[in-house]
Amino acid sequence: MGTISEQKPHAVMVPYPAQGHVNPMMKLAKLLYSKGFHITFVNSEFNHKRLLRSRGPHALDGLPDFRYETIPDGLPPSDADATQHVPSLCYSTNATCLDPFLKLLGRLQTSASAGHVPPVTCVVSDGTMTFSLKAADVLGIPGVLLWTASACGFVGYAQYRYLVDQGLVPLKDESCVTNGFLETKVDWIPGIDNLRLRDIPSFIRTTDPDDIMLNFFIGQVEAAHKATMIIINTFEGFDQSSLQYLSSIYSPPIFTVGPFSLLLQQIPHNHSLMSSIGSNLWKEDTHCLQWLDSQEPSSVFYVNYGSITTMTSDELAEFAWGLAASKCRFLWVVRPDLVEGGSVIFSKEFKEETKGRGLIVSWCSQEQVLNHPAVGGFLTHCGWNSTIESVRAGKPVVCWPFFAEQQTNCRYACVEWGIGMEVGPVVEREEVRRVVVEVMEGSSEKGKEMKEKALEWKRKAEAATRPGGSSYQNLEKVLDMLLKNFN
Ligand code: UDP
Repeated sequence: MGTISEQKPHAVMVPYPAQGHVNPMMKLAKLLYSKGFHITFVNSEFNHKRLLRSRGPHALDGLPDFRYETIPDGLPPSDADATQHVPSLCYSTNATCLDPFLKLLGRLQTSASAGHVPPVTCVVSDGTMTFSLKAADVLGIPGVLLWTASACGFVGYAQYRYLVDQGLVPLKDESCVTNGFLETKVDWIPGIDNLRLRDIPSFIRTTDPDDIMLNFFIGQVEAAHKATMIIINTFEGFDQSSLQYLSSIYSPPIFTVGPFSLLLQQIPHNHSLMSSIGSNLWKEDTHCLQWLDSQEPSSVFYVNYGSITTMTSDELAEFAWGLAASKCRFLWVVRPDLVEGGSVIFSKEFKEETKGRGLIVSWCSQEQVLNHPAVGGFLTHCGWNSTIESVRAGKPVVCWPFFAEQQTNCRYACVEWGIGMEVGPVVEREEVRRVVVEVMEGSSEKGKEMKEKALEWKRKAEAATRPGGSSYQNLEKVLDMLLKNFN
């Protein structure tokens, strides 16, 4: 690499190594890059190999000022194209990554001394990779925390310590999940009225005091206090009570800079260069976009459960027959590793029943699909990225939350934002049929209201990201803080 301009600020970005974290970190990296930063984007070795497989051998060549580095995630090496076990990955990154990350920072500083890269000026840590905040502290540079989930989810995780102290968690026994205990109202968070224990991120549903995820999140939300600032991919006015509460318990300033993709459209950048930088760990099917082009506006129901959700083959069959019975056209993304312990098999009868009106693919460019005019509704597991991407696209959602803060997002989508309807948790084909028809045909008051609300939030998200809007201005504030000591 040749000599680089020394005056650039240099951000080292550390996503948690899963799709729903790498995507928003990549968007924030692109925002900073567009604002003149040199970027070092740190993937796990496992994901690095997957990106090369899904995007091609030159996918990680980067640009002169946008480079990739890797650190091991601490798990045994594997060439699988599948989601890693979440508790194992949380445990191992937390326990093993600090040392290799410090060594990486050391190499970057040596490289900076030789004039090959600008000196590192800040670390951007995923909200669940807070060892990197410790590393920023060692170097004496700002440690920015990117919370890649929702603000309401953050509020939920921030209750874990209190719930443990009160003796409510871990649960007394397994029956607490079904005996009505989870219906207990959460009435102690100022400004937050509509939550029940069942809406708190799902890792409280354990009877084990040493549960990895419970303790992991207690540690991560605690570590967030050490950040120089906290960035969330949402916008002012959307999840205001959660943001107000978080600002009351955290001293680092909290900046909402989302939806990231919309804000990115407002910042001048070279589109073709930037689109060469991607983060999809699975190979995208592009045929589905052509298929959507041939469909009527708002006529296709889109189904996607994100990158981690799994289900039984019975649940898959209930979704399949519910979709079939709705008589709607649908685009259904079914990952090869979606069904627990087995491969995905659709019956001949289902294929015949839905022939010509249903398309099933294994991965897609979700944002392109959601923003396509042919898509009229979205069945989602309520991962935060999927939720905010749907808000940005103005599409109503059917919610089938799987785990983590997806339960909280579902509650907010249905009750606070008015854009969602929940199915399950037990999946039944008749219920699936009913909600798909309600959302697609607006056959009930609720169905109509959801469509209107979704469009209203889309307009608000657009206003927030335009020049003068809150997210646009907040990005300027983030830059001011990061560049304060930079000369
Ligand atoms: N995604 C995608 N194509 C797919 C499925 C998912 O591009 O077929 C992207 C989606 O747009 C989102 C991310 O993967 O940015 C999934 O993140 P989310 O927080 O919704 O869920 P998770 O995968 O973390 O459960």
